[in-house]
Amino acid sequence: MAHTPEPFLVSTPPLQDAQGRLIAYLRLSLTDRCNFRCDYCSVSDYDDPATVLAREEIARLVGVFARLGVRRVRLTGGEPTLRKDVAGIARDIRATLGIEEVAITTNGHRLAELARPLAEAGVGCVNVSLDTLRADRLTAISGRGARLADVLEGLDAAAAAGFAHVKVNTVVMGGVNDDELGDLVRHAWERGASPRFIELMPFGKGVPVPTARVKALLAEQGVLLEASEKRGWGPAHYMRGTDAAGHERFVGFIGAMTENFCDRCNRARVTADGELQACLGGAARVGLRELLRSGAADEAIELAVRGALAKKAPRHHMEEAASGLVQLMPMMGIGG
Ligand code: SAM
Repeated sequence: MAHTPEPFLVSTPPLQDAQGRLIAYLRLSLTDRCNFRCDYCSVSDYDDPATVLAREEIARLVGVFARLGVRRVRLTGGEPTLRKDVAGIARDIRATLGIEEVAITTNGHRLAELARPLAEAGVGCVNVSLDTLRADRLTAISGRGARLADVLEGLDAAAAAGFAHVKVNTVVMGGVNDDELGDLVRHAWERGASPRFIELMPFGKGVPVPTARVKALLAEQGVLLEASEKRGWGPAHYMRGTDAAGHERFVGFIGAMTENFCDRCNRARVTADGELQACLGGAARVGLRELLRSGAADEAIELAVRGALAKKAPRHHMEEAASGLVQLMPMMGIGG
């Protein structure tokens, strides 16, 4: 029987940026608000209800991105689980023609109650941010609102909820948490999760630890790893190890500062108030909210998206930001 291709998936030219990089991955911030106050991040305790995109607006926007070739959407923030409609938003997105995976990045504090509803809504991948296994350290890094017991309970719930992937993201900070990297790996592996170590980017306080040093620290702390070809959707590279039960496991590394991966960038970002930000480490933004609210046709939104990505910079400017030469947009609402 002849195969009839889905019309829009073949008739729309794929979304490309100025460098010819294909954009297939959308990071969507659901809110600027966060209940944590991490030293290295800047978030808000306020969303302007007049500007934050509503669930229906998000669904329409994702439909436009899907027609342009986006296949994966990650919900982030702020803290995306602070939105009461987070599972509904995930469900809408998963039901969008063309979208193959919905993922979420969270501080984990609400996952004990939300892991199952999110899995049932079709979320396939959960990233839990966890910088330490010590309650006093978590308070020092992320403020009084951060309760380690809630995060660990949330991680356990995610591990049991049937997601295809659970990842544990750790930002490594010299003199703060670099002595417990091995423990973080073992804790994640025991739950079938993949730990990943992220180099600190210059959005706030803290001493970055280069990925090469993180690998040496892991070896010193009893985690023996070897090279692996495994890659995901994003900038992480992975190394292979073996857990205490003899299972093959992986550790991911995101060398945001020392291993520039801009040539492989496949993503765009939309802030909670509907601004398209082509690059995390660049300042340019294009507003989509007014188009959504002014009765503009989807084609007009598509044009705005294509126009913004056609201007996407070849590389980020974080090194310049680290040395004070340029100012980045705060992490708030861009979603890491
Ligand atoms: N609230 C959610 C969470 O905690 O995962 C989602 C938003 S948070 C901005 C997303 C990720 O960005 C977290 O893993 C966080 O650790 C990371 N992040 C924030 N600021 C960072 C920085 N300056 N350098 C590296 N990673 C950072």
